[in-house]
Amino acid sequence: MAIMLKMDDINVFYGAIHAIKGISLEVDQGEIVTLIGANGAGKSTTLRTVSGLLKPKTGTISFEDKTISGQPAHKIVEYGISQVPEGRRIFANMTVMENLELGAYIRTDKNGIKSDLERVFKHFPRLAERKKQEAGTLSGGEQQMLAMGRALMSSPRLLLLDEPSMGLAPLLIKEIFEIIKDINKAGTTILLVEQNANMALSIANRAYVLETGKITLSGDAKELSASEDVRKAYLGG
Ligand code: ATP
Repeated sequence: MAIMLKMDDINVFYGAIHAIKGISLEVDQGEIVTLIGANGAGKSTTLRTVSGLLKPKTGTISFEDKTISGQPAHKIVEYGISQVPEGRRIFANMTVMENLELGAYIRTDKNGIKSDLERVFKHFPRLAERKKQEAGTLSGGEQQMLAMGRALMSSPRLLLLDEPSMGLAPLLIKEIFEIIKDINKAGTTILLVEQNANMALSIANRAYVLETGKITLSGDAKELSASEDVRKAYLGG
C-alpha cells in the first residue's frame, strides 16, 4: 500500500508546553488509522497539526509525497485533507444546506459539487430531510453528521475525525461508526482520534497509542485490542 500521510519526528508546543514530543506515524492509502489515548495525551493536537491549524516546531509532514508542514490550513484543504473538528463547530444560525455549501468553498467544479452533495445525502439521509433546518436546532448526532458531511464536501482523500463519538448515546455512536466505515469503503482514507478506544479499534486497520505526547504502542488494531496492556489502560479491563 502507498503511504499517504507521513509525520516524521514532529514536535509541537503551546507556548512553553511541549504537547507533542517527537511523533512519527504513517497512514497508508485506503486505511482507517486511529489514535487513542487518555485525556490530554495530544490526540487533537496531532490532528490539528496535520490540518495546519498548528505549526510543528520541528519535524516534517508529507501528504502524497508533498511536504505540507508549514503550509496554511486552507492550502492543506486544497491538497485533499479535511478535518472534522472536536465539538463539530457547525454554523448554528445557518441551514444544513448552507453549512454543506461552505464545505465546498474551495471548489469551482459545479458538477463535482453536485455529485458530492448527493453522496453526502446518501451517507446521511437525515441531512437530506433537514436541508432547510437551522443547524443549531439539530440533535447532537445530526450535528456530528453535518460536520462530517461538510468536511466531505471538499472531496478530501484523507478525512481527519476528532472524537466523533463525543456526547452521543451508544446507539448513535454505532450509527456514526457504521457511516465512517462506509465512507472509507467508498474510497476515503481516515485518521480517527477517539477516546472511545473500543469503537475506534473495532473499525480501524491500525492504531497508535499516545501517552503524554509520545507514541507508546502501535500496530494492527485487532492485535492491540487483544493486548493485555491496552485492555487494562484503555478498554476498561
Ligand atoms: P482530549 O481528548 O482531552 O482533547 P487530547 O489527547 O486530544 O485530549 P490535546 O487536546 O491534544 O489532547 O492536548 C495535549 C496537551 O496540550 C494537553 O496537556 C493540553 O493541556 C495541552 N493543550 C491543548 N491545547 C492547548 C492550548 N490551546 N494552550 C495550551 N495548552 C494546550
